[in-house]
Amino acid sequence: MVSRDQNSLQMKRASGCTESKKSPSPSVIVIGGGFAGIAAANALHEASFQVVVLESRDRIGGRVHTNYSFGFPVDMGASWLHGVCEENPLAPLIGRLGLPLYRTSGDNSVLYDHDLESYALFDTDGKQVPPEVVTKVGEAFESILAETDKVRQENSEDMSILKAFLIVMERRPDLRQEGLAHNVLQWYLCRMEGWFAADADTISLKSWDQEELLPGGHGLMVRGYRPVINTLAKGLDIRLGHRVTKITRRYNGVKVTVEDGRIFVADAAVIAVPLGVMKAKHIEFEPKLPEWKEAAIADLGIGIENKVALHFDKIFWPNVEFLGVVAPSSYECSYFLNLHKATGHPVLVYMPSGRLALDIEKMSDQEAANFAFTQLKKILPDATEPIQYLVSHWATDINSLGSYSFDKVGKSHDLFERLRIPVDNLFFAGEATSMDYPGSVHGAYSTGLLAAEDCRMHVLERYGERNLFLAGEETASVSVPLQISRL
Ligand SMILES: Cc1cc2nc3c(=O)[nH]c(=O)nc-3n(C[C@H](O)[C@H](O)[C@H](O)COP(=O)(O)OP(=O)(O)OC[C@H]3O[C@@H](n4cnc5c(N)ncnc54)[C@H](O)[C@@H]3O)c2cc1C
Repeated sequence: MVSRDQNSLQMKRASGCTESKKSPSPSVIVIGGGFAGIAAANALHEASFQVVVLESRDRIGGRVHTNYSFGFPVDMGASWLHGVCEENPLAPLIGRLGLPLYRTSGDNSVLYDHDLESYALFDTDGKQVPPEVVTKVGEAFESILAETDKVRQENSEDMSILKAFLIVMERRPDLRQEGLAHNVLQWYLCRMEGWFAADADTISLKSWDQEELLPGGHGLMVRGYRPVINTLAKGLDIRLGHRVTKITRRYNGVKVTVEDGRIFVADAAVIAVPLGVMKAKHIEFEPKLPEWKEAAIADLGIGIENKVALHFDKIFWPNVEFLGVVAPSSYECSYFLNLHKATGHPVLVYMPSGRLALDIEKMSDQEAANFAFTQLKKILPDATEPIQYLVSHWATDINSLGSYSFDKVGKSHDLFERLRIPVDNLFFAGEATSMDYPGSVHGAYSTGLLAAEDCRMHVLERYGERNLFLAGEETASVSVPLQISRL
């Protein structure tokens, strides 16, 4: 075992990642203060590391952003806990905090985070689609998806989910829909595109259903996600407004440079910035990242979903969870989440995704709010003007450059794992490094824990560090069993 020689560190330690003189505990810089970064920092802090979190924004949370400007919480990024069950890695914390969840769907479908009976769909003339049509077309949609699985089995080459749909329509005229039913089918496709934050012609047929769905359905965080991230961040050394521009890796440590030229040095780094930021190469790596890592960054898809939250002074819409507009193409369809149902606040959240979301991001906030309101007026002509609005910009925000990752056509699902695999003393975390739960908060959280554990092991193996503990060892009263792989 190589012993750790503090004096051999060629990199001068900057303030922020200092070491205690008496007990030289290892140090780590966590880059990115979203769920992944904060989870990693929390676990390493618990394991006696000296941790500094460098976060480019003036807030933590990243794509979890609870906005309070309406006078109550509105999540402009993530709002659901996908998988309301004990197996969900976030469940213990949410449970401990006593935060209420509103279950919008009891089933475990990848496609529907709302049960069918909770929708009210309208055509563009404001006529409500009869519920039996919604149900019938929903069943046809499921049959089409089942048929696309056969297309998948028959073809070794990948194709888009849209292409597979068209093949099924050719083969099974009985599943084709006409008139209003066609528009409802497009609306289901629009919902599917919303799940992946991508258009159907870009989603991989081979991989679209590879993520693991936890049981328990989908629960909306009634009071927003903010209390969860704030709890995890308690006691951590977090430097807001610190945009990292360069990461230099040497055998004995890492040097991290921020925008204003300040330098931080530590034994290791956890990189928990979004895939979009990695794709844009806003952080320079020296030496360069290996080719396989760069390929994973380039080949993973990053989708777009935005939210336009409209705050009204009174309720004028039906008491359902989701309002939908059906139209001849999925691009023209839309939907609104009725927050009133879950939280009691008079807010509708318009949620465009894919190309539509990108097009809306080119508008000013006022125009985007008008656009959303126009969609609403189509279905509810008596709608009154909103008194306030909020608009997200996840695609153009330099701190995210996209909403969440998805499997692109022709690319393998294990790219998520390749993005996660460490490179020497660099550990990678974030939703796009999760094979099982990409694109989710609990996925981001669990990759943070994994990166922390990999980092702890790396330091333990490399330096034989004595002051490293299992997370929580000092406070836990229970003994930790030995990790024995063979009895
Ligand atoms: C509109 C929308 C709706 C969603 N809905 C849901 C949902 O209902 N349920 C769900 O589970 N998931 C949902 N998601 C996905 C979920 O929000 C993300 O998967 C998760 O929050 C990602 O966490 P992360 O830590 O990987 O990344 P982030 O939260 O993006 O954290 C990365 C951090 O890095 C920082 N950063 C960026 N560049 C730099 C730099 N150069 N230097 C330093 N710091 C930097 C960023 O500011 C950010 O704080 C949604 C996402 C969006 C956008």
